[in-house]
Amino acid sequence: MAGRLLLRACTQTTLRLRSNVVARPLHRAMSSGKGIPTDDEQATGLERRALQALKQGKDPYSMLKPKEYAGTKADPHIVPSIGNQRIVGCICEEDNTAIVWFWLHAGDAQRCPSCGSHYQLVHHELPH
Ligand SMILES: [Zn+2]
Repeated sequence: MAGRLLLRACTQTTLRLRSNVVARPLHRAMSSGKGIPTDDEQATGLERRALQALKQGKDPYSMLKPKEYAGTKADPHIVPSIGNQRIVGCICEEDNTAIVWFWLHAGDAQRCPSCGSHYQLVHHELPH
């Protein structure tokens, strides 16, 4: 980022040295006069697909911070899964050092056997 700003500042202004010699702005050999390409312009493959999905508000690779749910029956913790069941670890209280592990199955929301928080399995398709 800082490098881009420095290069942009150098290309948009001319530099004067001590002896009134005007230095020419820097140019990159590979650029076509537009400067450094953005991530959108140079991303390819999986990175490009992820950037396009993020622009549409989707998060197919779970790169963003997960949403927070109340854990109640009306607002259960959503657990994405490609199958019909998944192992879930619940840290029942914030300062707990032990994790309560249990199987979560497709269907209605299930409760953590220790604290009673609700979890619900939601089918999730992996993008290819
Ligand atoms: Zn719990």
